[in-house]
Amino acid sequence: MVNADLLIVGSGFFGLTIAERAAEHGQKVVVIDRRSHLGGNAYSEFEPETGIEVHRYGAHLFHTSNERVWEYVNRFTAFTSYVHRVYTVHKGEVYPLPINLGTVNQFFRSAHSPDQARALLAEQAGEFESGSASNLEEKGISLIGRPLYEAFIRDYTAKQWQTSPTELPPEIISRLPVRYTYDNRYFNDTHEGLPVDGYTAWLERMADHPNIEVRLDTDFFDDSHDASKAATLGKLPIVYTGPVDRYFDYSEGHLSWRTLDFEEEVLPVGDFQGTSVMNYADSDAAYTRIHEFKHFHPERDSPKDKTVVMREFSRFAEGDDEPYYPVNTPEDREMLLAYRQRIEGEPQVLFGGRLGTYQYLDMHMAIGSALSMFDNQLPELIPALNDVTPASKA
Ligand code: FAD
Ligand code: UDP
Repeated sequence: MVNADLLIVGSGFFGLTIAERAAEHGQKVVVIDRRSHLGGNAYSEFEPETGIEVHRYGAHLFHTSNERVWEYVNRFTAFTSYVHRVYTVHKGEVYPLPINLGTVNQFFRSAHSPDQARALLAEQAGEFESGSASNLEEKGISLIGRPLYEAFIRDYTAKQWQTSPTELPPEIISRLPVRYTYDNRYFNDTHEGLPVDGYTAWLERMADHPNIEVRLDTDFFDDSHDASKAATLGKLPIVYTGPVDRYFDYSEGHLSWRTLDFEEEVLPVGDFQGTSVMNYADSDAAYTRIHEFKHFHPERDSPKDKTVVMREFSRFAEGDDEPYYPVNTPEDREMLLAYRQRIEGEPQVLFGGRLGTYQYLDMHMAIGSALSMFDNQLPELIPALNDVTPASKA
């Protein structure tokens, strides 16, 4: 059996935050990951031909309004002043997102003031009562009116979910932001930026501690090593951040996920699209968006005659596909409740992270919830951590 005080399954932000905190408080930690690299979905690498940093599992933008998380992450990396903005192509024309006064005025070829735009959208949205909308389409129309909904939401959503918006729950876009100013910052958070020397350097610094051992290419469910479920369950505390249904051998069924396919290409042009993310709102393009990574780091030197782009396609996950976004159908929610009951029968295991809780979590949320687990739940499994005062936990 593995010689440690704590086993962590998964080296994503959730697992590494627990590992770093426990190690800093004197615990010996082993972190295993089935992949050949650490860092989970935030992992990035420098594309060899161009030296441009590519986010291997889709573009990752860090943003948070949580001061504790912001202070914590700054211990491991400095952040650039990058501010995320997204544009979208509709019928051969580029519009700013999220939908704002610029989008509205460009779309209607108008020069409305904020109040005029508000009145126009309210009139167009009158077709459905927001409160009584029974699906995503009705909800979308009740929020922004049919013309904007059909241009920017309907086909993009159908591509992303591979389901007609009339069959999707209204909640998916219940907070669709519409700004009656020209502000097109994508995020509203207090803090935003990208790690100065990349995500992987940040993640590696979290794991760089004499009390932390990281074992890659090591699957918890492979019984051939000493950190497997079979070898460790009941013998030491475990924090599990893999898929909750896999842990229980899918006994209550398979939770459904969306996955993404990425098509990466090095192009012989200095600048392909002039910005980091371009959405494609119409159904004629099969991809939902194109990322051009050099624009995430304008402060870095990059080739003048080459660029890296990544087209993103969305579909339902099957078999060995990477699970990315929980689909969250009513059946999934019922299954999740059944799994939560089974979790109660595993007192030595804490389930965390996006896979372990079947929840979409941004990075700051994964880190924040790991910090709470370290404060509130881990001391029950590792009594030595009870002696840690809240002030010294920081
Ligand atoms: P993960 O990073 O998924 O880590 C889980 C780890 O567990 C993985 O490394 C996996 O290999 C390992 N594992 C699973 N099963 C086993 C097993 N049996 N044995 C051993 N190891 C196992 N967040 C933002 O804040 N901003 C963004 O812009 C953003 N963009 C995103 C884009 C995409 C396409 C996706 C999918 C996510 C995005 N996120 C973003 C969310 C971000 O990726 C998560 O917040 C973060 O990855 C959560 O970390 P985690 O540790 O919970 O999970
Ligand atoms: N959305 C849309 N058009 C867009 C961008 C987003 O219709 O150009 C809708 C779509 O339903 C999507 C949701 O808004 O599922 C959330 O989109 P976002 O891009 O914020 O999610 P991400 O995929 O980045 O997590």
